[in-house]
Amino acid sequence: MHRSEITIDLGALRRNVRTLLRALDGARLWAVVKADGYGHGATDVAGAALGAGATALCVATIPEGLALRDEYRTERIIIMGPAGSNREVAQARDAGLELAIADGEIPEGVRVHLKLDTGMGRYGLSELPSPPAEVIGLMTHLATADSDAAFARVQLERFNAATEQYSHLARHAANSAAALRLPESHFDAARCGIAMYGLSPFNTDPQEDGLEPVLSWQTTLAQVKRLEPGQSSGYGRRFIAKAPTWIGIVPVGYGDGFRRDLTGTEVRVAGEPRRVVGTVSMDSFAVELDRELPVGAPVVLLGHGVLAEAHARIANTINYELVCGIQAGPLRARRTVIDA
Ligand SMILES: *Cc1c(COP(=O)(O)O)cnc(C)c1O
Repeated sequence: MHRSEITIDLGALRRNVRTLLRALDGARLWAVVKADGYGHGATDVAGAALGAGATALCVATIPEGLALRDEYRTERIIIMGPAGSNREVAQARDAGLELAIADGEIPEGVRVHLKLDTGMGRYGLSELPSPPAEVIGLMTHLATADSDAAFARVQLERFNAATEQYSHLARHAANSAAALRLPESHFDAARCGIAMYGLSPFNTDPQEDGLEPVLSWQTTLAQVKRLEPGQSSGYGRRFIAKAPTWIGIVPVGYGDGFRRDLTGTEVRVAGEPRRVVGTVSMDSFAVELDRELPVGAPVVLLGHGVLAEAHARIANTINYELVCGIQAGPLRARRTVIDA
């Protein structure tokens, strides 16, 4: 048996795409599937997103784009990160990928989006040159769409002022947070990742924005034991039983992507919320139970009411990082795709 099972619900993904399309009110939705679809599996996610109305795929690097091209022969694929070596650019040209260009060098014979730095302070041109014929799009990226709408509006005003005269080009600025909350960010297209996966860009309950988590992650109890007062579980004896305590051992750890700083978060064991106690090891962790449960009792690590956002708060990170870190593959979590 596999140590754990990841289920990707493409039905939920399609519903999230439709929710975003409603919010976008006429602007196009471009599906961001970088980092293997935020850990969900880029190929499956891309197909479902395109089927539900997304009109292009976005990734970070040329190799990611080339891998998608094998499966998606004719769809638009946009590389959002900086172009790589000359060899990669030549491969991108041959594969018909579109490139985001963040410095003066515009390669020939490839469709290009010029990236303007309006306040992210990372990749991007500080001033927009008069766009040559290769340019089909103008873009910027928002630093605070999820946290500081006022600064995001400053960026959008700068972008609008710099690009207004080129309204025949595709102008795009929004990520998920902006697509959902800042109508003035919509322009011609929005590049949405996290919300499509049913995760909140605001690290709150995704249901507040009508989103459903696409990924769930389950396993079963591998062992159940009773600790007597004074006995401990795990490295460093960070959990010591004060009274007789039932604990369950879960056969998943940071080697699977269940991070070491998730001690204290809650998972569901046999349908009930249970606290993760002691140190999370590479291959297992412990949960505190209220009674003896059989080995094999179901454990939900994510999904079905266990929110990535709640885990992220405990681990002092964001839901994006948690899902990207899950090690799907034959040796750890088995990934199954369903359509519910
Ligand atoms: C990753 C990324 C996005 C998607 O952001 P979400 O918050 O996941 O919607 C959009 N644009 C660029 C340039 C990105 O790198």
